[in-house]
Amino acid sequence: MPDAEDLGQKCLSVHHDTPFTGYVRRDRTVQLVLQTYWWPGLERDVQQYVSTCDHCQRNKASNQKPAGMLQPLPVPEFRWQWVTVNFIRDLPETNSWPHTYCGVCGPAEQDGAFCSLLE
Ligand SMILES: [Zn+2]
Repeated sequence: MPDAEDLGQKCLSVHHDTPFTGYVRRDRTVQLVLQTYWWPGLERDVQQYVSTCDHCQRNKASNQKPAGMLQPLPVPEFRWQWVTVNFIRDLPETNSWPHTYCGVCGPAEQDGAFCSLLE
């Protein structure tokens, strides 16, 4: 006799994965299952099943705005007009090198400085 979890997975597969149902979203999958079946935690199981469905993950339409064109950085008027600061942490342990660095870079290629930090 198959256990309840296997039956639930097969039921969700029939109501979500087939070309007939067309990989519908969570709410529609719940509606389809509820036409015939019900079990405690049904909506949670559908949520988990749909959110981990490989087909839906690969073919999900994006709901984000298009990124648009890249915008160039403004041309600086003088050296070090603006800087970027990056912290490099958790480098592999060695005896002679620190594990954390702070990098400061200016807009020109030659503008850059690194310093080690104590954690
Ligand atoms: Zn799916």
